[in-house]
Amino acid sequence: MRIDVVSIFPEYLAPLELSLIGKARQDGLLELNVHDLRAFTTDRHRTVDDTPYGGGAGMVMKPEPWAQALESVAGGREGSKPVLIVPSPAGERFNQALAYELAEEEQLVFACGRYEGIDERVIDWAQDHFTVRPVSLGDYVLNGGEVAVLAMVEAIGRLLPGVVGNPESLVEESHSNGLLEYPVYTKPSAWRDHDVPAVLLSGNHGKIAQWRRHEQFRRTAERRPDLMETFDAGALSRADRNA
Ligand code: SAM
Repeated sequence: MRIDVVSIFPEYLAPLELSLIGKARQDGLLELNVHDLRAFTTDRHRTVDDTPYGGGAGMVMKPEPWAQALESVAGGREGSKPVLIVPSPAGERFNQALAYELAEEEQLVFACGRYEGIDERVIDWAQDHFTVRPVSLGDYVLNGGEVAVLAMVEAIGRLLPGVVGNPESLVEESHSNGLLEYPVYTKPSAWRDHDVPAVLLSGNHGKIAQWRRHEQFRRTAERRPDLMETFDAGALSRADRNA
């Protein structure tokens, strides 16, 4: 997969050189390029923003540098448009299902907004060159799209083949089957008056699987009752049968 990120703060994306994503880049599993939006300005001050039409507080990102930057990364492959993800609190919510969907793409481009956001005409114009998806990290407002991109690239990148050493660890995780993950423990079995649940020391794999599934339901109902409403029990038992 190829990922291009456009930002006025390219240094913000430096953590993507670390850990599993950094290693995936070194190993050639992921090509990730960060572009400075100001490199696509033409004036002496490298201006990327201006006052909003209609008045109001804050500044809006100008369309010209964005069009230049996005044109330069569009790729131009026959038949396939890259996906342009525009982080925005006014976008569709990012979740694990969307991470899986985006992990199938050949190229993702992320456009990091700042100030009051990007001139809306960029979003309209970009439809001719990209599949455009405004995406929100959650129902709160960040200062810029960079933190959202860090989260999304990590969630998507770890789903690419070979990035996570043991692919089984992706199967058992929270949100992979619609439920939260069960609690996990390691040695020592007794610690500061807190013991590991006895069933996990029993060696009885059937009982352990049953306990874990029970804990998934209990935890999800307690912490995220909204997930219980959309949970598809049929899909879960089909997945169990196929495992
Ligand atoms: N005026 C915009 C609004 O109310 O929808 C918010 C602008 S915000 C201060 C600046 C930039 O931060 C946005 O253009 C977007 O790139 C990013 N951003 C803020 N909150 C976000 C969120 N919840 N998810 C994704 N990106 C976000």
